[in-house]
Amino acid sequence: MRNVKIFEESEKYMPGGVNSPVRAFKSVGMNPPILKSGNGSRVVDEEGNEYIDFVASWGPMILGHNDEDVIKAIEDMLKNAISFGAPTEIELKLAKHMCETLDNIDMIRMVNSGTEATMSAIKLARGYTKRDKIIKFAGCYHGHFDGFLVEAGSGVLTEGIPGSPGVPEASVKNTLIAQYNDLESVKMLFEKEGNEIAAIIVEPVAGNMGVVPAKPEFLKGMRELCDKYGSLLIFDEVMTGFRVAYKGAQSVYGVKPDLTTFAKIMGGGLPTGAYGGRREIMSQLSPMGPVYQAGTMSGNPVVMAAGYAALTKLYENPKYYEHIEEIGTLLKEGVEEIAKEKGLPIVINRCGGMITLFFTKESKVETYEDVKTCDTDLFTRYFKHMLENGIYLPPSQFEAMFIGVKHSKEDIEKFLDVLRKF
Ligand code: PLP
Repeated sequence: MRNVKIFEESEKYMPGGVNSPVRAFKSVGMNPPILKSGNGSRVVDEEGNEYIDFVASWGPMILGHNDEDVIKAIEDMLKNAISFGAPTEIELKLAKHMCETLDNIDMIRMVNSGTEATMSAIKLARGYTKRDKIIKFAGCYHGHFDGFLVEAGSGVLTEGIPGSPGVPEASVKNTLIAQYNDLESVKMLFEKEGNEIAAIIVEPVAGNMGVVPAKPEFLKGMRELCDKYGSLLIFDEVMTGFRVAYKGAQSVYGVKPDLTTFAKIMGGGLPTGAYGGRREIMSQLSPMGPVYQAGTMSGNPVVMAAGYAALTKLYENPKYYEHIEEIGTLLKEGVEEIAKEKGLPIVINRCGGMITLFFTKESKVETYEDVKTCDTDLFTRYFKHMLENGIYLPPSQFEAMFIGVKHSKEDIEKFLDVLRKF
């Protein structure tokens, strides 16, 4: 009963008992387990129940829980520093590492979350182009910044709300909505008001309506449109960065964005974010240029140390990504076989370590409209069954589950065994 007791008390002191909505498990009609510890691919709750963790803190824990190198980096840094609000060598190390190992980053600015990264990238794009309008896609989520809360994915989609009270109309009047994987819908917006569009922001593999990989021609076509109209292309790689490949989705598709946003994995499990891109654009940022963006905690040395340990480890071990590919394929093929045997209506989309089982009778899921055909009641039954049998998944049909370095073939076999019993 400890889980219930803690959660009920949490509800008295924190809205919904949580500090981020989807964690409350509201959409699956149950209380969440209260997690206490993690190791490798496993997490344990306050009652001692162990689960194979496919949430991975919503992406960051690609190295698994309690990674020894990340912990050592944090411990070593703590002996010298917690926070100065001043330049440190460790922030240079991480910035240099990212600029040198990623393809389209000449300069980078550290922030404290994915939301901060995307909202700051938009401000920079607006400052650079001297235009106000942006294009985003229905079903994509870029954080809780006002201008993005129109037809957003993730928790907004899970809760079935169109936007959010508290967002003034003025904040979203410059947000134009297009349809994911539908280049025509983007073209139409450009034909109408192309000279006023500062930027397109897109998840190059959508993860926040469940996993929906972009069609290659969709991303390439947007690059051409941005070049034609003098707009910037922003890839939000908060989820996909260091996950679908070390160099992110842009390396998988071979499309070059002007700006890229990061968070999640780049903090090694501590809170962080960053945005970076072409020098000419980044040099518009204060104090080099006029676009103002700042942060007391930005580039915090403990966070930078964790991030540097995580990213160097991932960069130096390409075999990790091969492992994730192998394990991911095993899971996808296993699920497809079981779905066929049992007559379960499932489409499974995967890109690297990002996976979603869509409970739909459609034959494929390529658009937001396809996503909306899912049977969320069936998902809820599946979710509960998996949780009761030790498989910890994101509590929503419209999220990605994550596979990491520490997931083993045995973990996948257990997942498939449990699914078989559903
Ligand atoms: N962008 C994408 C693609 C995300 O998936 C998320 C969060 O899940 C964000 C931005 C917001 O990041 P954060 O929750 O760190 O603010």
